[in-house]
Amino acid sequence: MFLPSDFKEKKACVIGLGNSGSSAARLLQKQGFQLLMSDSRPFKEIQALAQEIPQGIPWEADGPSPEALSCGFAVKSPGLAWRSPVIQKIKNAGIPIFSEMEVALSFSKTKQIIAITGTNGKTTTTALTGEIFRQGLSFGQNVYVCGNIGNPVSSCILETNPQDYLVIESSSYQLEDSNFFHPQIAAILNIQPDHIDHHGSFENYVRAKARIFREQGPLDFCIFNSSDFETIKLARECPAQKLFFGGDPKSSHAWTNADKIYARLNLRDDPVSFTPPALPGHHNQENAMAAILIALASKIPVSSIQKALAQFKGVEHRLEEAGTYRKIRCVNDSKATNVDSTLVALKAFSEAHKKIILILGGLDKGSPYAPLKPLISQLAKAVLTIGTAAEKIESELDGVAPLSHCENLDKAVQRAFEIGEAGDILLLSPACASFDQFKNFEERGKRFKKILENYQS
Ligand code: ADP
Repeated sequence: MFLPSDFKEKKACVIGLGNSGSSAARLLQKQGFQLLMSDSRPFKEIQALAQEIPQGIPWEADGPSPEALSCGFAVKSPGLAWRSPVIQKIKNAGIPIFSEMEVALSFSKTKQIIAITGTNGKTTTTALTGEIFRQGLSFGQNVYVCGNIGNPVSSCILETNPQDYLVIESSSYQLEDSNFFHPQIAAILNIQPDHIDHHGSFENYVRAKARIFREQGPLDFCIFNSSDFETIKLARECPAQKLFFGGDPKSSHAWTNADKIYARLNLRDDPVSFTPPALPGHHNQENAMAAILIALASKIPVSSIQKALAQFKGVEHRLEEAGTYRKIRCVNDSKATNVDSTLVALKAFSEAHKKIILILGGLDKGSPYAPLKPLISQLAKAVLTIGTAAEKIESELDGVAPLSHCENLDKAVQRAFEIGEAGDILLLSPACASFDQFKNFEERGKRFKKILENYQS
């Protein structure tokens, strides 16, 4: 465990110059630690990142240097794999390595920690949970929504007080680094093969997820998705009180029926009914069930939960309603960076027979596009391809729906308005990474919305 007092006189080496690294460095600087930030990438690649580094903190490219290897402890950014050469060198030098999240949590004044993980739905569920808690807070209480959601735990931890809540989006990268992480309430939304390159195997990925409940005890709660095979398998080894969503009402703590969610903390109790947020897709009902159970386990009043559900508009770039232009409904799902996410998006529009104009493409991630075929043939009026993956997509989806090679987003949107008719849905759910043409999926989604403005009427 990282105990700040054990390392007070020691110099910290923060490995990785990204957002988490910079936040950890800022936190440790405020606590009076000597610091060096080290990144193994060459100067040219990290020059821009270095601008985010807090004033007065030395940093190095091409690390770790002998100076880095003489530090008293190291703080690892979650994106770095344990088997990466830089971590191995630090480890071989006998330097204790702690994760950004656990270093941050060692300064937490609150123990009211909620952690949410899963292959998909983490950000949406974390954001919704944060909204529910915000509605239900008592005077003087705060909720901090942080972690993988783009707001490192290090960036808010010093503001916390004992009565506050931390709602942490926990990725498998953060969990694999966690040895003492102890959320009072945890949720595992689903587990599908992902990030195998980082973890080395699916088994390692599942083991990383299991760390969310490893330090929990019988007073804590852990929430599981009954309809997800790997999640249910993990539930058997969980030492906390288990709550299940999405299964048979007799054995579930939350389930859906006729557009309502029913939930209860105890199987003997009568369920309370909730209206889920107005977001498309059954997956969003699953996210809402998890958030409701988290809130009930935290004793958030039912009326606050209901109010937050009614107000929640979803998260940008996740099946986000981007407006109706020329009577065509436009949906920004730029976060769909893999085939599974695009499948989920199409399922959310399963009533829209031959009305979807789907923009696919970007940087290929190596998975086949064939799993999209049945839904595309049922739902798509046309598929517009963009980016470097376009040819591969076109050859794999040949004959399934009319295909149009558009190169980039501007041309794809233009094409969509040429072929689209009133009542159609223009869906950007690209099933690919964005890095061939954009900085990230956020930039891609924002660009999509900007282009749409040219089609006001
Ligand atoms: P994450 O943070 O885990 O990547 P997000 O909430 O950002 O998850 O959602 C990313 C994409 O994953 C969404 O656009 C949607 O297609 C899909 N998704 C969201 N929630 C779920 C869920 N519960 N099950 C399956 N897929 C989901």
